[in-house]
Amino acid sequence: MKPLSYTQISLYRSCPLCYKLQYIDGLKPKDRWYFSFGNTMHTCAEHFFRVKVPPPPSLDELLQFYEKNWLSEGYESAEEEASYKAYGREILAKFWEIHSSDFRMPVAVEWMFNIDIEGVKLRGYIDRVDKLGSGGLSIVDYKTDRELFTRDDLEKNLQLTLYQLAVEQSWYLPVERLTLYHFRSNTPCSCEPRGEAQLEEARHLVLAVAKGIEEERFPAIENQYCPCDFAEHCPYYRQKTIPEPRDTEILGGMAVAEAVKRYVSLQSQIKELQLEFDEIKQMIIDFCQAEGLNRVYGREHAITYKLVEKAGFSEDEVRALLEPEGLWNRVLGLDQSRLRQLVTDEAVAKDIRRKLEALRQVISTHPQLWVRRLIEEE
Ligand code: SF4
Repeated sequence: MKPLSYTQISLYRSCPLCYKLQYIDGLKPKDRWYFSFGNTMHTCAEHFFRVKVPPPPSLDELLQFYEKNWLSEGYESAEEEASYKAYGREILAKFWEIHSSDFRMPVAVEWMFNIDIEGVKLRGYIDRVDKLGSGGLSIVDYKTDRELFTRDDLEKNLQLTLYQLAVEQSWYLPVERLTLYHFRSNTPCSCEPRGEAQLEEARHLVLAVAKGIEEERFPAIENQYCPCDFAEHCPYYRQKTIPEPRDTEILGGMAVAEAVKRYVSLQSQIKELQLEFDEIKQMIIDFCQAEGLNRVYGREHAITYKLVEKAGFSEDEVRALLEPEGLWNRVLGLDQSRLRQLVTDEAVAKDIRRKLEALRQVISTHPQLWVRRLIEEE
């Protein structure tokens, strides 16, 4: 199996089908301005810190490098590109001011790692690794996100966790700080390094993704980025991308659009009827109870009212009786909903929850339909 990167792992987790289309079938996503902008800023930060000896490049030199390495792909218009270019220049000037005044040579810049997690290769590039006064290491990852990172973002960031794994496995030096550097505000957002439990969880996650890929499990999972650039290959969006999809015939000689319309209309009639049915049912029950009747008569039908008893067993009493006889286990069964609760119950040890989660598998399938109002969505 080819080495995995954080980007691949993250994509597989958000949508395995999208991962397959991009990394196995080799489809190329469209150019986006935010990738170009992010890459340009990364290259400039790399250029600033990748010096053989101090001092770092002057501001003029850095801005010239910026102009030369500016990536134009993905911008919607020349105006949009020009405004981002000016914005990037501003950010970079501030970056230079902050970092040239207390410039320290990093231990590594754009450091390529290649580690092994129980037979699965993980590779990537770390933007910067610094050595702290204490002798430990600090990992820095540059980001051009709009919003500043919250404490939660930092503590849950899988990329930083994997980078810590890689650095500690490669250098045998402790990582003492993890930082997401927010480029737009030139703010380093730092947190403590991960503990062993979180590192272990990340290793399991890598192994689970590798297993999914090896077993060729590539279901489409809708997420906040849908539709992606491969909508015409996606079972959720493919039909929408066909010209005049609404006129395509499905079984029974009905057009898709007609079938959808009829389904939604019937669904809403069923809901209304169910409401009305429940109301009338309650009225009849109330009437029978108030009048002490067990049957009421219409012109063509009669309805019988009866209190139906549902018998059951008290768990404590049955257990007290059966356990001493060795029969208790014969009446126990797996309660799927209780098991699902257990997996998310923080009071249960993480290790047990993880192992339990790993045992989860598809035990049956049944088709189901969901209706969504397209006009609101658009
Ligand atoms: S559009 Fe389809 S393939 Fe693309 S991310 Fe969404 S679910 Fe996955």
